[in-house]
Amino acid sequence: MDKIKYRCLLFVIFISNSVVAQTDGDTALQNLQKAYPDAIKAVTSHYIDWRDGTRMQIRSSFPVFNRLMGWLHHADSSVGSISRRDILDDSYEPFFRKMYGNTPSAVKRKLVTIYWMPHVFGNRYPLRVTTINGVAKKLQHISAALEKLPRSYYRYLNNPGGSFYWRKVAGQGYLSSHSFGIAVDINSQYSNYWLWDYQRYKRPVSQLPRPNHIPIEIVRIFEKEGFFWGGRWYFYDTMHFEYRPELFMMG
Ligand SMILES: [Zn+2]
Repeated sequence: MDKIKYRCLLFVIFISNSVVAQTDGDTALQNLQKAYPDAIKAVTSHYIDWRDGTRMQIRSSFPVFNRLMGWLHHADSSVGSISRRDILDDSYEPFFRKMYGNTPSAVKRKLVTIYWMPHVFGNRYPLRVTTINGVAKKLQHISAALEKLPRSYYRYLNNPGGSFYWRKVAGQGYLSSHSFGIAVDINSQYSNYWLWDYQRYKRPVSQLPRPNHIPIEIVRIFEKEGFFWGGRWYFYDTMHFEYRPELFMMG
C-alpha cells in the first residue's frame, strides 16, 4: 500500500473510532438523566442541567474550544466538568462530588444511620449512608430482602463495613465511592480483592484466577435496587456494592 493510501486509511480508522466513542459517550450521558431523575433535569451534548439550577459542562475532545463552549452555554465553573471519556472510563468524581457533596461535611449533612438486617443482627451493624437518590431507603429494602434468605447466607452478610468513609482508592488519585455514602462492603472474610491476589500470585490482573465466594442470590438482591457488584469489575472486589443505576443501562 502506498504511503498516501495508508495515511488515508489511518485517518478513516481514527475518525470512525472517534465517532464510536462519541456515540457510546452520548448514550452513557443520556443514561445519566434516566438513572438519576431526582438530581438531573436534562442532558445535552454540551452540558448537564441539575435540578438545583446549576449547569455542568461536558468537555469536548478539543480542549481549545472548551472555555468558549463553557461561556456560550453559561456553564457553572464552580461545579467542575466531565467528558464523554470520563464516563466511558468510569471516572465520575466531579459528577459524584456535585451529586453527593464536595467535602466530607457536605456529604455528612445528607447521611442517615440505618441498621443492617436488624431482624437477624439486632442493632449491631449501623451503617451511615446518603439519603440522596433514595440510597438509604434502597439499602433498607436490600437489607429486608436479605433477611429472607436461608440462614446459611448470613455468614456472608455479617460484620459489614465501610459505608461512609471519605478516602481515596488504595494507590489511586481518586475518591472511593465510600466517600459519598453510596457503597457498602459485606463480610470481608469471604471477599476476594484483585490487589490481594495480585500480591499473592505476582501475575498480571488478566491472569489472576478471579475466585468468588459470594452467592449470586445476594448479588441479585443488590442489583435489583441499582447497586453494582464489585465482583463484576475487571479490578474485582467481591465484598463491595455501590449505587450505580446508570451501569445497568449500558446494554
Ligand atoms: Zn468497598
